[in-house]
Amino acid sequence: MTVELISIGTELLLGNIINTNANYLSIECAKLGFSMYHQVTVGDNEARLYEALKTALKRSDILILTGGLGPTSDDITKETLAKVLNRRLEMDEHSRERIQAYMNRIIATNKIIPKGLAKITENNWKQALKIEGSIVIDNDYGSAPGYIVEDNNKIILLLPGPPVEMIPMFNNMLPYLKKLQDKVFVTKMVKICGIGESTAETMIIDLIEGQSNPTIAPYAKGGEVHFRITASADNEKDALILINPILDEMNNRFGSNIFTADENETLEEVVIKLLKKHELTLVTAESCTGGLLSGRIVNVPGASEVFTEGFITYSNQSKIKYLGVNTDTLADYGAVSEQTAKEMAIGAVKASGSNVSIAVTGIAGPGGGTASKPVGLVYFACSVSDKVFVSERHFKGSREKIREHSVVAALDLIRRSIIEVYG
Ligand code: ATP
Repeated sequence: MTVELISIGTELLLGNIINTNANYLSIECAKLGFSMYHQVTVGDNEARLYEALKTALKRSDILILTGGLGPTSDDITKETLAKVLNRRLEMDEHSRERIQAYMNRIIATNKIIPKGLAKITENNWKQALKIEGSIVIDNDYGSAPGYIVEDNNKIILLLPGPPVEMIPMFNNMLPYLKKLQDKVFVTKMVKICGIGESTAETMIIDLIEGQSNPTIAPYAKGGEVHFRITASADNEKDALILINPILDEMNNRFGSNIFTADENETLEEVVIKLLKKHELTLVTAESCTGGLLSGRIVNVPGASEVFTEGFITYSNQSKIKYLGVNTDTLADYGAVSEQTAKEMAIGAVKASGSNVSIAVTGIAGPGGGTASKPVGLVYFACSVSDKVFVSERHFKGSREKIREHSVVAALDLIRRSIIEVYG
């Protein structure tokens, strides 16, 4: 089945808000196995929305509309769709009661407008109007209900714009959408780091080119490469039978570069799991990442069990003061060097008493690069139980990108080093 997304709102066209709804719904529709060939964004303009709806109804089976369900005069989604479908709008008593209760709650908790003056404005009742014959979906987080409209073998979903309202409502619509799909779709996500996107793709180009079911879709994500493998079958077991040989082949080719095949697992979670498994504690010594690495680690719930502390040693002075880096090392090799990274890692272990440390020192740019030490050069050192593993990497791009990729490379070095020592 094909699905088309229509995002409604002039703010979206002006770039005032980012279309996160489209991002979310695209991912969810792919999970459901719907093919999304078109996404359209239109402003709060009846004529253009009318055209967009007409076109979408000709080429797609399911239309998902977000935004423009509110009480104000520029909220025209429902009204325009009613015109396109040639249906009436009628009062839905159930929605009317819910809106009444919702507004009563807001008035009761309102502290700005003096008591007695706050009241429900007439335009709020517009939200209780439904397209005749549509299914009303309650909004548990706002006032505008959503709708499912069935028309001539087409299905149109109407969802409110605010993501906090849209996401739970879409989830409530999932049982309905799942019934439209007679196949089961199973997805595995193979996540890789340490190899660039084009190299990774080349390594399995025969699998990608030969794909039909399962499909293999690569994409790069901040220093990692992810391959989404999706199979459709009559049931989950049959889908896994199709996926497993591909997973095995990817394991053969990428080996330890794969850090997980679990869609929801992140690199930092894998690192924390490994530390916990071997009862290790971690300390960070960051220069060019300036706390970004520690931030990623602390994002993981339960990080406190393994993460003891982090040093942000940006200046040479602080590298000497907190990590005991030798003045001669800094003078002879420079702050961005393998030797300094090593001493930072060893010093962090000494200073903290942790058994694993990771040190990062590099040139994030845009200035500060030289011919021998260009922007993007970053050294990493990881100390695990008295062994020190060092890595030299060359990243391209903006300061932000270099720092982001450095965090991934640092996490990856911790992962590889622990596996090397502990298996
Ligand atoms: P409401 O229930 O608030 O009246 P609505 O359906 O009328 O909702 P809009 O008025 O179109 O929605 O948008 C309200 C707000 O929702 C926007 O200001 C914006 O913050 C957010 N929003 C709308 N569309 C999107 C979108 N596609 N992606 C992310 N946020 C959005």
